[in-house]
Amino acid sequence: MFGKAALGVHGNPAAAGVRAELGLVELQFRRQALKLRWWDRLCSVLPERLLSLVFRRRHNEILSGGARYSGLQSMKDLLLSYGFSEEWLQRRSDLKVNVSWTTEVKAVVNLRALASASANIAGRSSLSLLSLRPHGIAHYLDDRKNMAGTRLLAKVRLGHIMVMATVARMLGWPANRALCLLCHDDIESVRHFVQDCPVLDRSRAKFVRGLELPLSLSGAVGLERLDMLRRSGSPLLDSVISCSVATSGDGDRCQVDAAVESAVKNCLSAMWRIRESVLGRFGVAAGRLVVSPPSGPRAAELIARQEAN
Ligand SMILES: [Zn+2]
Repeated sequence: MFGKAALGVHGNPAAAGVRAELGLVELQFRRQALKLRWWDRLCSVLPERLLSLVFRRRHNEILSGGARYSGLQSMKDLLLSYGFSEEWLQRRSDLKVNVSWTTEVKAVVNLRALASASANIAGRSSLSLLSLRPHGIAHYLDDRKNMAGTRLLAKVRLGHIMVMATVARMLGWPANRALCLLCHDDIESVRHFVQDCPVLDRSRAKFVRGLELPLSLSGAVGLERLDMLRRSGSPLLDSVISCSVATSGDGDRCQVDAAVESAVKNCLSAMWRIRESVLGRFGVAAGRLVVSPPSGPRAAELIARQEAN
């Protein structure tokens, strides 16, 4: 709920995608990390304290095959599942280790959380435009100047923009009923909207053209990115996928990332306005498709205006 509100996305986008965009870890891994950290504290309690006496007694009982119903059994299972068998057997306070337990726990739990997130994203067809990266909030979300563009980009990356494929998925229609109503050529998936729909070609062509000046003024990093975009067969789609954490400590690279992300948002917004001006706004309420008729300028008018620019 918090994640959807933070992203400004309504409905039911895949939770794995929302977490990935916000750099959040699944709750189960946060719980496991806290529990593992508690193990070190248990082992470090002063021996004369009652907690320590009970803990050591239960631990010895489990080591001898007893105390089957002790709460310490789940701690044992967790430690062993992360490969901390030595820590379980000897108790950490008895081991002479230099690395802090918190650091060790963080490293192993994060690794497992990342693998789980990766598997969850790979298992969701709606998240095909999402690139997983080490935990951290996606940089494009920091932009407060263009909130509408930021939200639109989030919806596109989460596969939750209301194109016909999303409508069909939400209403349980067969996939072949999700034909693009702009070109009637293909199923209107998110990828079709971003990359393939021929009706929106002019907007896409403006994407790289609009980046030529800002990128060429951003030094070698900018020129390298510009060259990459020119050689790409799908520069807009590639840029949507690569919107992620900005490279820290590199001014030029951050500037280039910000310029590309801003252009992506502007281009998607222009394409979405064209679509809405022709088809209106789609929504799903109480299991039915709700269409608000177009109220803005017609697509031909918008395209003509872009051509004149
Ligand atoms: Zn189309």
